[in-house]
Amino acid sequence: MSKVVAIDGPAGSGKGTITPIIASRCHLVTIDTGATYRCVALAALNNNLSIDDKDKIIELSGKINIEFDDQGRVYLDGEDVSKRIREKDVTSIVSPISSIVEVRANMVDLQRKMAEGKDVIMEGRDITTVVFPNADYKFYLDASLEERARRRFEQNKEKGIDMSFEEVLDSIQKRDYNDMHKEVGSLMRTEDAIYIDTTNMSIDEVVEQMINIIEGD
Ligand code: C5P
Repeated sequence: MSKVVAIDGPAGSGKGTITPIIASRCHLVTIDTGATYRCVALAALNNNLSIDDKDKIIELSGKINIEFDDQGRVYLDGEDVSKRIREKDVTSIVSPISSIVEVRANMVDLQRKMAEGKDVIMEGRDITTVVFPNADYKFYLDASLEERARRRFEQNKEKGIDMSFEEVLDSIQKRDYNDMHKEVGSLMRTEDAIYIDTTNMSIDEVVEQMINIIEGD
């Protein structure tokens, strides 16, 4: 039986940083589900579609080819888009695009296929609730809004993404609202997910706490 570690939480809660570290230490394959929605958003931009072109976006989401390599790079129709999908224009439309129910159905199918027969660690917004509600280990990572914006602002600087702190804070706040008010696949904290508030924790502390749980039995 393959093992599934599921992690949900809002933007900047630490999922993206912590997941690859745990993956490498526990020999799990990483699946960044946010990247799949970001690929749909990028494909929509590349095809000059606006968020109102719902039918065309749904069609596109069923046609595009999304792949990850074992270094965590993301490919859209064979092209490495790892950095491109983190840029401002993609980030600003990804949450409304991921609210389209049919797009979600396509991405959830894809994410489950990516996990088939493997030991995986999967992070996103609806992993513990929709994609793998029966995962072996379920976590919900959180942090204060200010701290999450600070982390994302620093990450953007490192990646050369030009956004002011206020822009990042505003973008995260809007995404939080959108992500928590979706018709399907809303971000929510369930009782059976282990809640970790990472606001005042180092990356190592979060990793150790999670690995103790995953490897504790
Ligand atoms: O995790 P990341 O910030 O890259 O996710 C981008 C967006 O994709 C989120 O703001 C959310 O709207 C959407 N998403 C989702 N379900 C997931 C993962 C991400 O709706 N499982």
